[in-house]
Amino acid sequence: MSLRTQVVVGIVGMSLLVVTLLFAVVSPRMSRTFSDIERAEVETDVGRASNAVATELSNLESTSHDWAAWDESLEFVQGTLPTFPTENLTDDAFVNLRLNFMVFFDSAGRAVYVKSYGTERPAGDFLTAVASIRALWTSTDDTSSRAGVMALGGSLVLVAIHPILSSLHEPPAVGMLAIGRIADAAEVDRLAAQIAMPLLFRTADDPRNPPSVLATLVGGDSTGPRSAVVPLNKDSVAGYAVWRDLLGKPVAVLSVEIARDTYRAGMATSDYLMLALLVTLAVLGGGFLYFLDRRVLSRTARLTRDVAQIAREHDASQRVPAGGRDELARLGTNINGMLASIEESREALARSERQYHNLFESSRDPIYITAEDGRFIDVNQALVDLLGYPKAEIMTMTAGQFYVNPEDREAFQVAIGENGFVTSYPVTLKRKDGAHLRCLLTSILETSTGNEGRVYQGIIRDVTELLRNQEKLSFLATHDPLTGLLTRSALDDVLRLEIARAMRNLDRLAVFYLDLDKFKEVNDVHGHAAGDRVLQEVGARLREALRASDTIARLGGDEFVALLPGIDSPRDAEIAADKVLQALRDSFKIPDDGSLGLSVSIGIALFPDDGETATHLLQQADAAMYSVKAQGRNGWRRFERGSAPPSES
Ligand code: GH3
Ligand code: MG
Repeated sequence: MSLRTQVVVGIVGMSLLVVTLLFAVVSPRMSRTFSDIERAEVETDVGRASNAVATELSNLESTSHDWAAWDESLEFVQGTLPTFPTENLTDDAFVNLRLNFMVFFDSAGRAVYVKSYGTERPAGDFLTAVASIRALWTSTDDTSSRAGVMALGGSLVLVAIHPILSSLHEPPAVGMLAIGRIADAAEVDRLAAQIAMPLLFRTADDPRNPPSVLATLVGGDSTGPRSAVVPLNKDSVAGYAVWRDLLGKPVAVLSVEIARDTYRAGMATSDYLMLALLVTLAVLGGGFLYFLDRRVLSRTARLTRDVAQIAREHDASQRVPAGGRDELARLGTNINGMLASIEESREALARSERQYHNLFESSRDPIYITAEDGRFIDVNQALVDLLGYPKAEIMTMTAGQFYVNPEDREAFQVAIGENGFVTSYPVTLKRKDGAHLRCLLTSILETSTGNEGRVYQGIIRDVTELLRNQEKLSFLATHDPLTGLLTRSALDDVLRLEIARAMRNLDRLAVFYLDLDKFKEVNDVHGHAAGDRVLQEVGARLREALRASDTIARLGGDEFVALLPGIDSPRDAEIAADKVLQALRDSFKIPDDGSLGLSVSIGIALFPDDGETATHLLQQADAAMYSVKAQGRNGWRRFERGSAPPSES
């Protein structure tokens, strides 16, 4: 979910939560408050209605007082004025006083006059009801009057009872006057008009009374709540008060009904408040969101987009927006700083790569990079030239294919594995044309950061030519250039080795010292060049005549030395000497100059018989050779201590 969505969801969610919470907390509280106000209002109205009834009763009581205090009433109940009813208790009087009943009792409690007017109810009913109230006056000294409400069948009657006193208004009472007015619809309307509100005045047993009200007000004793308030519907509310008769029995329910203006206005105000709050929150939330979007969210989204694009395109030369001085601007500046240093590093890397590549490509030394399994990762032109394959072909081959002995590559890997590098490691490779290349590898084994794993990087030095020259030089140093035989110095080394070997093998070594006879003449007769050819031929014939294991050297001039190892007996040496003589016996061809015959004088010394050191043996052989010369040449002679006669073969 994007940051923007999260913020929108968060703000909308929080606003709704706040409004819901406020509504849940405030609305019932408001409702209760306005209900209480409404209740107080209705209770006041019920009080006003009750007061109106009470005022009516008070008026009725004062009417009863006026009549009871009248002397003619006194006389009437005492029986001295029989004309009183016809003269005074007329229908008009009933109409004027709005009375429906009138009863006169004498001092003994007997009804002396009963009259009803303007009602279908018989006056007897009224008399019966009043008689029970009259019993409240237990003494004729009781001069108090009483007024109250009384149930009469299904009707309510306002009643006032007053004792009829003497003309001096003193006890004892001589009778009682009871007057009553039925609280009919007209009477109730009149009361309603007084208090300017709808009013109902019903008997307590009227089935239209709400049972809850009766239970609350009527069910309890007279000290219970004086009124009850019951909402009828959303538009109107009713207030109830119970009236008890003079005996204390609940007989009437007074009720007013008023419109619920206050409550509805209050609740509407509450709803408006909530709506206003919601609108305020929506405006504030929207404003906050707008600000947040402009200053943070859209910039964050842009920054995220730009960074993603830079990462996708690997283009560190791009920049992200960084205007302003807030944290996002600083973040942008920092990202740009990082991009700049990445760009710089890339350029440096590219530069270094170019330099490396130039070096790599222009190097005259063959350079390669291979994977551990021998696959080529890169090779330079010098290596292509060295191996003689096109580069594309090399890249499909493995390093092992270029080794003359594939095992050498394994040995190379073991060697490099020891320290991670090798220097001048000798290997023999083969070119495409089959030529063998003797090379020195200088290589390192590196753990690549790429996906190639470990790689070998190395430089090849082709030393084929160098070694060949070296070998040539060392050959020249040890071999006579004319005959290809060993030189004197090389002979010394070989002789020492052969002596050591003969010592080890406990066998003999024969040393032949040869000097051509009268060779000077060859030069003199045929020329120096012919002499050289003859010397070469002599070398070749000596090699032919002797065994491959024998060593032949030219000491210089026409002097040669042959070393014959593995000689069992002196006789074997003599046989070999004969072979040499025989080999040189055939004439030597001189180009364009015929041929010539040649002989040689051979002195023989045997190890260990005739000497045990190289110098000694050579001296002995030389001496023996001279003795052959002295004896007439063309023969061999073994060294003998003292001077021995030459032996001719
Ligand atoms: P002798 O029987 O007493 O040995 O007689 P000789 O003539 O062989 O005399 P000597 O061995 O003392 O001389 C060797 C001669 O070989 C001397 C020289 O003219 C010749 N000689 C020496 N070195 C070379 C060479 O390199 N090339 C040629 N062609 N002749 C050489
Ligand atoms: Mg000679």
